[in-house]
Amino acid sequence: MKPAPFAYHRPTTLAEALETLAGESYAKVLAGGQSLVPLLSMRIAAPQALVDINALPGLDTIEVSEAGVRVGALVRHADLLADPDVRRVQPLVPAALAHVAHPTIRNRGTTVGSIVHADAAAEMPVVLSLLGGSVEAASSTGTRTIPADELFLGPLESALRPDEIATSAFFPALPAGAGVAFEEISRRQGDYALAGVAVVVHGDSVRAGFVSVSDVPTVVDLTGVPDDGLGEAALAHLDPADDIHATADYRAQLVRTLVRRVVTKAREAAA
Ligand code: FAD
Repeated sequence: MKPAPFAYHRPTTLAEALETLAGESYAKVLAGGQSLVPLLSMRIAAPQALVDINALPGLDTIEVSEAGVRVGALVRHADLLADPDVRRVQPLVPAALAHVAHPTIRNRGTTVGSIVHADAAAEMPVVLSLLGGSVEAASSTGTRTIPADELFLGPLESALRPDEIATSAFFPALPAGAGVAFEEISRRQGDYALAGVAVVVHGDSVRAGFVSVSDVPTVVDLTGVPDDGLGEAALAHLDPADDIHATADYRAQLVRTLVRRVVTKAREAAA
């Protein structure tokens, strides 16, 4: 299939992009195109216009400070994954990014695009939620910061308004003494996960984020749960589903196995 007809805009300033977006009745922002273009080609999405943000200046920077990592909207997964300062300040970001798709897709796809696409099967929305990060959004009427716990409203639905462009995402730094780990199971390396788990431990606190086992990125506080109860405690907040790739029961079993394993790895990393 081919996409339905659409107007194509390639603005060269953020102001022009926001004005164009505000002036269209149904437009989509085009970043890396790795999720949007397949949706257009299958006619699951049929916007009247695309606003391509790839010519906008200043959105391709990674800013690392002791507070955390700010990722511009045009930073590709591959560049974020390769950055040694990001690995030092927030090691959960590269640990999860290594599982995002295949190298060719990581060369083009953006981390901010993946976050605002709000797919519960994607790694980076869960990582942002678990770390308590945020997204910076701009519209023709101003800017706002959307905390991760207010960002994900439903399957493929974020709190970003149609007239807004996400300009960056912020991942807070890992505090001293904390440890992180990430693991997932997929049919082939680079495929979407059948189930995935990210964990942050800090002192007695144990928190876990789950990929592909709920409708929205889900974080569960597992502090104080004995190791042999981690799986059931997590599953009480999750809703694994059947699809052509795996049964709900199999996904639940992956959660039980992975959460114990990943909590252990995060404790080792903290130590
Ligand atoms: P686009 O495709 O350009 O946009 C996606 C959506 O977000 C669109 O609705 C668009 O309007 C919106 N959007 C994007 N950027 C902005 C912005 N700055 N402001 C406002 N709206 C914006 N992802 C994973 O996480 N894990 C995987 O295992 C995985 N496997 C994949 C396998 C294949 C074969 C393919 C094709 C993709 C896979 N992906 C996977 C998706 C990939 O990571 C995409 O790069 C990512 O989901 C979207 O980023 P993008 O820059 O390509 O966004």
